[in-house]
Amino acid sequence: MPDIEKYRERLKYCRLCGHRCEVNRLQGEKGKCNTLAEIRISSFAPHFGEEPELVGRFGSGTIFFTNCNLACVFCQNYDISHQGKGVKIEPSGLVKVMLDLQKRGCHNINWVSPTHLVPLLIPALLEAREQGLNIPLVYNSGGYDSLEALEMLDGLVEIYMPDAKYGDPSSAKKYSNAPGYWEMNRAALKEMHRQAGDLVIENGVAVRGLLVRHLVLPEDLAASYEIFKFISQELSTETYINIMDQYRPCNDAEAHHELNRRITTDEYRAAIILAKNCGLHRGFQDFYW
Ligand code: SF4
Repeated sequence: MPDIEKYRERLKYCRLCGHRCEVNRLQGEKGKCNTLAEIRISSFAPHFGEEPELVGRFGSGTIFFTNCNLACVFCQNYDISHQGKGVKIEPSGLVKVMLDLQKRGCHNINWVSPTHLVPLLIPALLEAREQGLNIPLVYNSGGYDSLEALEMLDGLVEIYMPDAKYGDPSSAKKYSNAPGYWEMNRAALKEMHRQAGDLVIENGVAVRGLLVRHLVLPEDLAASYEIFKFISQELSTETYINIMDQYRPCNDAEAHHELNRRITTDEYRAAIILAKNCGLHRGFQDFYW
């Protein structure tokens, strides 16, 4: 197994995400993600609900990690992300999981919510590569990753799949308890794009690059236009962006009347028009016309 201690050191003064808690997780301190220096997973399996370019024919090899550095009031996986549902797994066990998913034909390994675990996951990834893992790694995060975390991943991640949740700082603070999200998200997307470039698809399957997800919220609380404008002007109009319409009130969303409904067709249509007006064209369909 590669030098685990070198990476674990990063947990001594944790700044893996925008919270910058600076706690010593090796000494039992917990930051906002409520996570010690151990890997916990809630499930792993070939998954067929991701973007078609990740699913291909045999699925995306998803591994759901327990806990999260964001606290979205509308989270659909609250039991995993905040109630700690999951089991501890040693790095050697994670190596076996990744190799097993490859053996089952998955087109990629899909780390779901990995930000708070980056230094613990890298040694397992390196060991799995040593043992024959040769499918792309998808880094599937909420987009609140620090540059310190992303620099550790440089050269190791084939496909970055961050959320771009909010183009407005006040919504990020209010609904995900993520101060500075908009600023951090822009820096993270730029770094991810610098490392991986635009999404490359071969024979219908993604092989490398950046894939952004954006969930449209009611009342334009996500400030979608700001996100589209940033991506088109500062990344690339070739950016693949999955503009999602499946918002539904979950978890504590009903406590916020403005979030306590699905989006309307008009709201989704408006988001698509804005994206297209910014020159974006990959990752979404204009099937509402
Ligand atoms: S990962 Fe983020 S939330 Fe967790 S302790 Fe580190 S800085 Fe804090």
